[in-house]
Amino acid sequence: MDQITQEAFAGAATEFLDAYAKQRPAERYVFGEGDDDVSILAEQTEDEEAREVSAAKTWAQSVFDAGFGWITGPEEYGGRGLPASYQRLYASIEAAYSTPSQSCRGIGLGMVAPTILAHGTESVKERYLRALWRGEIIACQLFSEPSSGSDLASLQSRAVRDGDEWVVNGQKVWTSGAQYSDIGEIICRTDPDLPKHKGLSGFVVDMHAPGVEVRPLRQMTGGASFNEVFFTDVRVPADHLLGDVNGGWTVALTTLMNERASIGGGGGGTSGSGVLQRLVDLSRHLGRSDDPIVRQKIANAWINLQVAKYTNDRALAKIRAGELPGPELSIAKLSLTENLRRLADLAGSILGERLVADSGEWGTYAWSTFVLGVPGMRVAGGTDEVMHNIIGERVLGLPKDPVGR
Ligand SMILES: Cc1cc2nc3c(=O)[nH]c(=O)nc-3n(C[C@H](O)[C@H](O)[C@H](O)COP(=O)(O)OP(=O)(O)OC[C@H]3O[C@@H](n4cnc5c(N)ncnc54)[C@H](O)[C@@H]3O)c2cc1C
Repeated sequence: MDQITQEAFAGAATEFLDAYAKQRPAERYVFGEGDDDVSILAEQTEDEEAREVSAAKTWAQSVFDAGFGWITGPEEYGGRGLPASYQRLYASIEAAYSTPSQSCRGIGLGMVAPTILAHGTESVKERYLRALWRGEIIACQLFSEPSSGSDLASLQSRAVRDGDEWVVNGQKVWTSGAQYSDIGEIICRTDPDLPKHKGLSGFVVDMHAPGVEVRPLRQMTGGASFNEVFFTDVRVPADHLLGDVNGGWTVALTTLMNERASIGGGGGGTSGSGVLQRLVDLSRHLGRSDDPIVRQKIANAWINLQVAKYTNDRALAKIRAGELPGPELSIAKLSLTENLRRLADLAGSILGERLVADSGEWGTYAWSTFVLGVPGMRVAGGTDEVMHNIIGERVLGLPKDPVGR
């Protein structure tokens, strides 16, 4: 069958969006008006979170059923089999409409689904890929453990084969979104006698299975985006293995590459020039825009945001050309967190004591959730120090870190 033309595709997308969503009102940001929330991590109550998850799923189903849910995916698993240019076209059209946030689906679609597609058995691909992309289920990433983060290969959760099943025991930590996830990608030790990277295996685990216990962790900004997850004799069907037995390190690397791409690639939102514009306006409002130190920090943040944007563009250009971006992803992740640190520092210089004492004034104390969210971003998806090691070793050709993997 001939591929749909871009014009026909764009026409169908516009028709669907006109029928199901409202045009986004022209966003005219005015200092002092509307929401002053600039938080990095979700700071929601359980009810707010449940409403957001439900709205995300409902919208995802409409989009999927109209043929725009998994535009680039293989047709046998529910995708549309179209080139990435169609995905970009749809995203650019949808951006003009108000649609529910899909952030609760980010880890599932950005990291777990590509790993299932690359390493899952046929039955697992059929069972979960369509359901993930249609928003019927949500997935989380069960990698980190209390003593294994940067040195992921040292993890201790065990999976032992028992007939047609694996039995999983252990504890994971910092699992974002486990509280609303239906499945998780878990890495377990399957052979403790092999060297640490070689005795691991990846699985898809049912988060509603008996023996799975999710306990929320409260972050210093007040919300609870992460969890501890305990596994006690959790039975996982043998066909839920990802990749080969003891081939879990390759599986984990697939997920981590996608994680770095999705975190580092996020140049907008709380990390981007929108935040800087708010800080420039704030400096004017508080009479701080003539301060030479504040002016210098604003210029420095702007320059570094531009540099990060061009590095991201380079990585995206490689992806579009069908190449694998390598060090660009580590550089992009590091630039993102360095820029967040610069913006947090600038916020502190402008606000002074207003950052720590809530006077009720619009757009002042609200910055405390931004500043307190930055350290988490410097740790998530590979810490700044680990990114420095990767860049040092793989880009600059420095000697290998004697402690690292
Ligand atoms: C916002 C957020 C979301 C997260 N979501 C998830 C999730 O959904 N699923 C999941 O599995 N995990 C998640 N994590 C966990 C995250 O992957 C780990 O926190 C991270 O890998 C670091 O591991 P760690 O906390 O054990 O720190 P450690 O690895 O113990 O590091 C402690 C310190 O030592 C430094 N260090 C460690 N090794 C080296 C080295 N070789 N050279 C130099 N310095 C080093 C680190 O940079 C850091 O400063 C999340 C974390 C955050 C903050």
